[in-house]
Amino acid sequence: MTEQRHKYIFVIGGVMSGVGKGVATSSIGLILQSKGFKVNLIKIDQYLNVDAGTMNPTEHGEVFVLNSGLETDQDMGNYERFLNRELGPADYMTSGMVYKTVIERERNLEYGGKCVEAVPHIPEEIIRRIKLSATEAGSDITAIEIGGTTGEYQNIFFLEAARMMHRASPDDVIFVLVSYLPVPGNLGEMKTKPTQSASRMLNGAGIQADFIIARSETSIDQKRKEKLALFCDVKVEHVIAAPDVESIYDVPSNFENENMGHMLLRALKLEPLNKENGMTEWKEFVSKTKSATETVKIGIVGKYFDTGNFVLSDAYISVIEAIKHSAYANDRKPVLTWINSKDFETGEKDVSILKEFDGVVVPGGFGESGIEGKIKAIEYARVNKIPYFGLCYGMQLATIEYARHVAGLKDANTTEINKNGPYPVIDIMPEQKKHMAEGNYGATMRLGAYPAHLKKGTIAAEAYGKAEISERHRHRYEVNPDYIAQLEKAGLVFSGKSPDGVLMEIAELPTSVHPFFLGTQFHPELQSRPLAPHPLFSAFIKAAIARKK
Ligand code: GLN
Repeated sequence: MTEQRHKYIFVIGGVMSGVGKGVATSSIGLILQSKGFKVNLIKIDQYLNVDAGTMNPTEHGEVFVLNSGLETDQDMGNYERFLNRELGPADYMTSGMVYKTVIERERNLEYGGKCVEAVPHIPEEIIRRIKLSATEAGSDITAIEIGGTTGEYQNIFFLEAARMMHRASPDDVIFVLVSYLPVPGNLGEMKTKPTQSASRMLNGAGIQADFIIARSETSIDQKRKEKLALFCDVKVEHVIAAPDVESIYDVPSNFENENMGHMLLRALKLEPLNKENGMTEWKEFVSKTKSATETVKIGIVGKYFDTGNFVLSDAYISVIEAIKHSAYANDRKPVLTWINSKDFETGEKDVSILKEFDGVVVPGGFGESGIEGKIKAIEYARVNKIPYFGLCYGMQLATIEYARHVAGLKDANTTEINKNGPYPVIDIMPEQKKHMAEGNYGATMRLGAYPAHLKKGTIAAEAYGKAEISERHRHRYEVNPDYIAQLEKAGLVFSGKSPDGVLMEIAELPTSVHPFFLGTQFHPELQSRPLAPHPLFSAFIKAAIARKK
């Protein structure tokens, strides 16, 4: 094959945010990958945070951690799930990262005495990062999602970078506008004007859209496709219908029904690399999401649920998706119920409602709010032999519950909540303490992939089918080494440990005592994929199905 030039697709939002740019970008990635290309996806966030780690999940959604430990936006999770591979730290950037690099470079005299200016120096740094990401991924095509919508101030430098890349290499760069088409209730008619305005706004930034993804409740009709084509200066077949769908996993097939992959390649002046349909496996997965009729009922006991319904699903998106992957793989339709753990503290709800569920999950979390309610829920699941899966905080709280009620360590706690309790079974490691004393909160968490050794004959070892694993972390506290012997003696099994044996990675109970009671210090949900469900989630779902029977 002759040396191919690298191709870039910029995905830009119009009219309003939250219409599924991330899923559109993920789907474009999957489609092009299925045509034989190596694709990488980049998420650009316009805010000044240097990473997503300091942002509140109730406002911004889940913090998705990469293997490298970089804390990123939840869209990166969708990218990994659709591409079915891991992405690197160069595949994510924020305005904060970009500005920081430029300012540091200036401080190091690297601009050689020149006046450092917002333009071109900021866009140049953005372009450097985009090209670095493409090189590091060794990909043929890079799709870049620019956060926000056209017309805002905040993403203007990213649009300028995109314009400059197109100017330098017009055959290798294309633009996709993901826009929203409202159907106002009083009119009952789909309106194209907001998208026309968005397209003009993009023109004002020197960018002409090549494709318009028309997001709307129902499919855009031919007449309106033609209208958009005329007024936004795109080919009519480049206006892609993107109606609301039941599941985000339906989007790639919908795009393919509009022949989008073929047209993207044509616009990039590429020929498909393979003849066969590379989406077969994906389509099999999607058909499972529709064919399952029997349910598996999972209760998720957490704390981020009281700010309105739309928030919770974003704060725990990877957990939800991981449960779905394993449920569908086992031909079950997952039914998820959100339970605010505070309701178990106030008496609003009785913990016995948990017996309605086939399995209970306590996901990750921080701070004091609602933790006694979570501990009550864990105790109920343990005593009543309901499959229990604890993720990070859910593992720490299960350890506390076991310490208090089985190992006889009354009032055991984590030092995150009680610094002076009698039994600090969960505590911060000395190294992290040092960072915190220095007020260096950005560096106080154990982040990213770490290896663990599994103990033979345990649920964990059985599920993974191997002795060594690598999983992603995001936490400050650990099981306190001073209490391990006592907890083990009381029957808790630490089935996963760091290679040096110091850090407890998985805690579980033997199946002779409980069908599935297991917690992980890491976040297994971050590595579950539609085409590769996570082994521990699958083991949990199997136990839940068995309980149902
Ligand atoms: N708050 C706990 C810790 O920092 C758990 C964190 C989490 O669940 N991600 O260790």
